[in-house]
Amino acid sequence: MSVLKVAKLGNPVLRQVAAEVDLKGLVKPKGELQKFIDDMIETMHKEGGVGLAAPQVNRSIKIVVLEYDNNERYPEESSIPLTVLVNPVLSDFSGEKVLGWESCLSLIDFRGLVPRFTSLTLTAYDRQGKKIEKRVEGFEAVVLQHEIDHLEGKVFLDRMEDFSKLSYQEEFEEFWVKKDPAPESRES
Ligand SMILES: [Zn+2]
Repeated sequence: MSVLKVAKLGNPVLRQVAAEVDLKGLVKPKGELQKFIDDMIETMHKEGGVGLAAPQVNRSIKIVVLEYDNNERYPEESSIPLTVLVNPVLSDFSGEKVLGWESCLSLIDFRGLVPRFTSLTLTAYDRQGKKIEKRVEGFEAVVLQHEIDHLEGKVFLDRMEDFSKLSYQEEFEEFWVKKDPAPESRES
C-alpha cells in the first residue's frame, strides 16, 4: 500500500464530475482498483481524515472511503466503521438541516459552518460489487454528504450559506471550538 498525494483546492480534478466505476473491473481480486482502494484507506489514515473521495487523490472516479473511531476528543459523534462506497448515490433527504463545522483534506487550513441534511438514503456498492442500501443519519450522514459532493466537483464552501465564521484552523480553535454549540467535525 502507499500514501497518495492529496489534491488541494485549485486543482481542477476537484471540480470535475467523477466517472462511474465499471463494477466488472472492480471485482478482480488483485485488480488495480482494489489496490487503489487500499491506497485510499491508507491515505485517509495517514492524513487523519474521516473520509476521502477519489478525486481528492487525483482520480476522478466515484469511490469514497470513510472511517471514524469515537474518542474522547469528539465524544458527541458516533463511530463509523471502515466503509468503501463505489458509485454512491444519496436520496430521500430529510426535511431539516443541521449546521456543523467542517474541514477538508483539500482545504486543510479552513473550517466552515455547513448546513447538511440530518438523514438520507444511501445506495452504493461495496468493494466486492455488492449492493448497499440503507438509511443513514447523524454524523455519518454529514460525512457522506461531504464526500459525495467531491464526486460532483463540489467542496464544502459551495454549501455554506454564511461565510462570516469561515476560519483558519488556528482561529477556529481560539474563537469557536468551545463557544459554538454546533458539533465539530474533522477533515474529510
Ligand atoms: Zn473534503
